[in-house]
Amino acid sequence: MRHHCRVPSAAASFVQEVGQRIFVVACVARQPQHYCLVFFHAREVSSFRRMDTTPAFPTLRVVSHPLVQHKLSLLRDRATPTKIFKELVDEIATLIAYEATSELTLEPAPVETPLERTEGKRVSGKKLTLVPILRAGLGMVEGVARLVPAARVGHIGLYRDHDTLEPVDYYFKVPSDASERDFFLLDPMLATGGSAAAAVASLKRAGATRIRFLCLVAAPEGVRRLAQAHPDVIVYCAALDRELNDQGYILPGLGDAGDRLFGTR
Ligand code: URA
Repeated sequence: MRHHCRVPSAAASFVQEVGQRIFVVACVARQPQHYCLVFFHAREVSSFRRMDTTPAFPTLRVVSHPLVQHKLSLLRDRATPTKIFKELVDEIATLIAYEATSELTLEPAPVETPLERTEGKRVSGKKLTLVPILRAGLGMVEGVARLVPAARVGHIGLYRDHDTLEPVDYYFKVPSDASERDFFLLDPMLATGGSAAAAVASLKRAGATRIRFLCLVAAPEGVRRLAQAHPDVIVYCAALDRELNDQGYILPGLGDAGDRLFGTR
C-alpha cells in the first residue's frame, strides 16, 4: 500500500470527473510482484495535508490545522477549568465545521452589487441540520452554528440497554423532511462507535441519506466500527488517538467530555 499526495497524471481525468478527494486505485506495474494498491488524494482540490488522510481509515478526516492542534492540547490538559474547556470545544467545533462544510454543493445565485448584477453562489438544498448526541454533543452546537446560523437543530438521546447492551434512543427529534437535508451529527468523543453507529442508524431510519460525523477526538476502534456499519459517513475530528482503555475511555483523550463541559465531575 502506498500513499501519494498528488494525482498520478494518468488518473487526472478520472479525478476531475469524480471530483472527490480520496481514491484507492489498483496500480499494475510491469513486474507482477510490483502489483499494489496506491492511495492518493488530489492536493490541488484539497485543503488537507498529506497526513490528514490515511489508507487505514478511509472514512476519517483529521483536521490538523495548527490552531486546532493548539486548542486541542489545552482541552486535553486536566488543569483546564470548565469555562475554558467549554470555550475551546466551541472554537474547535467551528474550525472542524469549516472543513466539514467544504464539500457542500453550491448553486448559482444572481446578486445585485451596488454597481451591477453578477453571478453569485449559494449552498444548494434545504438548510443543514445539526444533531448533537446528548449530552456532550450540545457543547459543539453553537460553534458549528456560528458558520451556518440558519441550520436546524435536532437532538438524539441514547442509553445502553442493560440486557442487550445495545444503544437505544430515549429521545429523537429531527426535521420531518430528513431525506432532503444534509446532517452533521455532533459528539466530541468517538470512542467505541456504538452510540455513533446507532445515532446514524436512527437518522437513516428517519430518511437521512447525507450524514457527516463531527467529533473532537476519535479512537481507532470507533472509527472502524462506524465505518463498518456506515461506510458512507465521513468522520471529521481534531485527533485520532491511540486506543480505548477497558472502561471505554479514549487514551490519551481528554477524560469525560460531558462532565468536563458541564462541570459534573
Ligand atoms: N466519552 C468521553 O466523554 N470520553 C471518552 O474518553 C470516551 C467516551
